[in-house]
Amino acid sequence: MLQISRIYAEDAALALPRGQEIVGAWPDAEIVPVASHWQIPEVHGDEANVRRWVRIKTEALVLGVKKSVATRLNGRSADFIAPSTANGCAMACAYCYVPRRKGYSNPVTVFANIEAISRHLARHISRQGPKTEPNQCDPEAWVYDIGENSDCSVDALISDNVRDLTDLFRMSPTAKASFATKYVNRNLLDWDPAGRTRIRFSLMPHETAKVTDIRTSPIAERIAAIDDFVAAGYEVHLNFSPVILTPTWIADWTALLREVNETIGERAKAQLACEIIMLTHNDRLHEVNLGWHPRGEDLLWTPAIQEPKVSQNGAVNVRYRHPYKADAVATLRELIARELPSCRVRYAF
Ligand code: SF4
Repeated sequence: MLQISRIYAEDAALALPRGQEIVGAWPDAEIVPVASHWQIPEVHGDEANVRRWVRIKTEALVLGVKKSVATRLNGRSADFIAPSTANGCAMACAYCYVPRRKGYSNPVTVFANIEAISRHLARHISRQGPKTEPNQCDPEAWVYDIGENSDCSVDALISDNVRDLTDLFRMSPTAKASFATKYVNRNLLDWDPAGRTRIRFSLMPHETAKVTDIRTSPIAERIAAIDDFVAAGYEVHLNFSPVILTPTWIADWTALLREVNETIGERAKAQLACEIIMLTHNDRLHEVNLGWHPRGEDLLWTPAIQEPKVSQNGAVNVRYRHPYKADAVATLRELIARELPSCRVRYAF
């Protein structure tokens, strides 16, 4: 997945212990000083240079300091969005919203000021106190999404940032960390999260994932990991996201849900829940994708059943039209109830 040969680094990040650890882990990498992790034109800038992206993702790492360390309210999948300890991703899902902000090759940027981020989170958790009313995020714990802008399982190949947060939440009986992932990193099985980290394996039908989930762990590997992560002390939920309405989606999801039901054990089923998130796409991303992966766009770009949507952050995206979307969510809920009845739907959007 990663063979880092260049580390673009802010001076302030290099001065921190985490920055030093990361540089020490890739001793042969060239260090390229940068003023800001946000502005590295040769890495982020060139939308047209699609052929270089995967190489950049494999070979380049960015080391920065997160300037604004703040927790945001969410209330959908998690109660709060924790400050990111990384952004960008070494994988390359065709629908990914992460590069829409930071340029299209979007390799991983790791934030070296993990101590400041951990201190902020510990204070936030302590101020919050116990959760007194259950909600869709969790019945008893405040849930903090720690992976909004990256995939924590891949981030854990690069630094101990995610492990440090897992350690923090292990000691936080009123709170829980949560992240969705498309990569199986079995190193995490040794971390002893003591039930305070929820890992949400993203699943979609195999054939769709083969076209759209580039560089990720195969779906069968993700399903096979569920029992092992439960046994290792994680809460394991499923992230049905994005749900892509292909011509065969109902049959494909039926088979997928059946496979999960037949593969996972009773312990995993007893704690299982999922979220359903329908695909949103973006006309700019669509244009870029046509340059490198037009097959993916056959599944993702279906204007006959999509409409424009202004997102929370003001971006104009497309989503499935009403009533297609409402019908599809209702159908998927019925399929889950029939094929994977142990799985509670925590949230559908
Ligand atoms: S794994 Fe997640 S963050 Fe990485 S490319 Fe795919 S959708 Fe984006």
